[in-house]
Amino acid sequence: MQPNTTPVARHREHPDAGSRDGKGLGSTKGSGICHAYARDGRCISLLKILMTNYCVYDCAYCVNRVSSNVPRARFTVDEVVWLTTEFCRRNYIEGLFLSSGVLRSSDYTMEEMVRIAEKLRAQGFRGYIHLKTIPGAIALHALTGDGSRVLKRRGGMERTRDGRPLLVTLHPSCLLRLPDSQARDRATEDFRNDLVHAVEMLRVRAG
Ligand code: SF4
Repeated sequence: MQPNTTPVARHREHPDAGSRDGKGLGSTKGSGICHAYARDGRCISLLKILMTNYCVYDCAYCVNRVSSNVPRARFTVDEVVWLTTEFCRRNYIEGLFLSSGVLRSSDYTMEEMVRIAEKLRAQGFRGYIHLKTIPGAIALHALTGDGSRVLKRRGGMERTRDGRPLLVTLHPSCLLRLPDSQARDRATEDFRNDLVHAVEMLRVRAG
């Protein structure tokens, strides 16, 4: 997602924030409102939540793993959109930091998260949106709703579900993982061509 001002990658507690239990400073716990720093140095507040803590996976280190006995809850797409816009109207936050456990499948979960971002933008929300990538999800499926194979569509122009143009390409990490060096060189060349094509597309759109 394209933020208006891109916060740097690190997220940390606001230096003035007290800890959640009232002892000392700062906290590494949980969710709520966290802070990030924009490139211009501004500290911005983000609503940091999970869409759900249900999860079909069982990562041993994670409190939300399927075998954990924590109480479960889930926000609907509309609930997250409503919370974000209402908190923004009240000036509590300037952006959304959204992650989630995995419901049904990675692609389904990612699609639900993308729908939240799409609805927010459609309602005029111009704040920062940070969506965590769900492990195993294929971004193209989430953006277009079409689950057919990415390799067959690579290099083509498509539309997102809300009508914006997109160019299909592979994540650079896929190229690096190709075991055969000739295939890797070919795929890297294709990737470069995709980037050139994407820049041309942006130029045409900018007019
Ligand atoms: S996929 Fe994520 S939420 Fe699910 S158990 Fe693993 S770390 Fe936890």
